[in-house]
Amino acid sequence: MSLSQNWIDRAEQCVMKTYGRYPLVAVRGEGCRLWDVEGKEYLDFLAGVAVNNLGHCHPKVVAALQEQAGTLLHCSNFYQIPQQIELAEWLCEHSFANRVFFCNSGAEANEAALKLARKYSKEQHGSGRFEVITAQASFHGRTIGTISATGQEKIRAGFEPALPGFTYVPYGDLEALRSAISARTCAIMLEPVQGEGGVNVPPPGYLKAVRALCDEHALLLIFDEVQVGCGRTGTLWAYQQEGVEPDVMTLAKALAGGPPIGAMLARQPFADALGPGTHGSTFGGNPLLCSAALAAMHALVEDGILDNGVRMGAYLRGKLDALRDKYTFIKDVRGRGLMLGMELDFDGGDIVKQAMQQGLLINCTVGKVLRFVPPLIVTENEIDEAVTILDDILSSLPESP
Ligand SMILES: *Cc1c(COP(=O)(O)O)cnc(C)c1O
Repeated sequence: MSLSQNWIDRAEQCVMKTYGRYPLVAVRGEGCRLWDVEGKEYLDFLAGVAVNNLGHCHPKVVAALQEQAGTLLHCSNFYQIPQQIELAEWLCEHSFANRVFFCNSGAEANEAALKLARKYSKEQHGSGRFEVITAQASFHGRTIGTISATGQEKIRAGFEPALPGFTYVPYGDLEALRSAISARTCAIMLEPVQGEGGVNVPPPGYLKAVRALCDEHALLLIFDEVQVGCGRTGTLWAYQQEGVEPDVMTLAKALAGGPPIGAMLARQPFADALGPGTHGSTFGGNPLLCSAALAAMHALVEDGILDNGVRMGAYLRGKLDALRDKYTFIKDVRGRGLMLGMELDFDGGDIVKQAMQQGLLINCTVGKVLRFVPPLIVTENEIDEAVTILDDILSSLPESP
């Protein structure tokens, strides 16, 4: 029996089947490369779904973890935690925010944002004003609260009833959003670019107009930057390319360069809506993860990784555009920075499998959109290698001219 098959058989017996997994048993990573238990090497253009923005095992993140692991692993939020304070300072200095709440995942960050919006609204405007408008095809997480916020019925299927207080509108449609606002609305929550929904970029000026609507109706504007934040779209935060600032922003995925962390950032006066005893997280803001996040954010901004992501984003975009010109079955290439999607007019699942066999990791969202989210440290050579593999696969498809 192969080494892989042994693990796959054992997983079959004991791991809950929440993921339909590929038969790849991952054991090691370095930079843009991942190795499986058989020693096979992969070029990783999925990067843990936009988590490994600094590549696998970035030396500065590893060093911060190693040092902190031997000093203080965990400490209750009953006490002050220097690494948490330093990370909050860094995030506030580099964003619109005045305060940060730390947790452990994207869903938890969004839960915190939803709680803050409800609490602030109740205090300012009384009860009955608790509804949050979100977008169709959005993705905000897997908890009961965040599947209720997510504008995809298939995510909620089987877990009904969803929590009350959510309305979904087509993404990018300002008039639909305007008419969805009612006396019950307290906030609007959007991804600045939709990730799981198919790498959807809003029309120019949309988010700015949403900001104006929020101001007009005294609604909180929440940006879910769990996937698009931390340099993924070419700026530290995606909202910076839109000339708008949210009132609340959620982060997770790439914030600590691999290990799990989540954060909810808010500006005043909203940030003070969550006072002592209103919210919390045992592990949130622990010294280990905060030291990793500090190292990750410093490396991202100070070591030229963010800038490299911008250059490589344009380079990969050019290569994917060229493929679109070559193959009529490619409907669209879109995205920002190093978050790019290629929409096909058929299901992309087989392409993902073939790419894996040839040593390239990508994925496919909403059935037809191949998604490319390589580490921001990716090089031109690595992009050339990935695009050659993809071109080979596309040229041998029956749909190919
Ligand atoms: C991944 C993701 C989430 C959920 O994050 P978890 O850490 O899996 O809870 C929420 N929102 C967006 C936009 C995401 O991409």
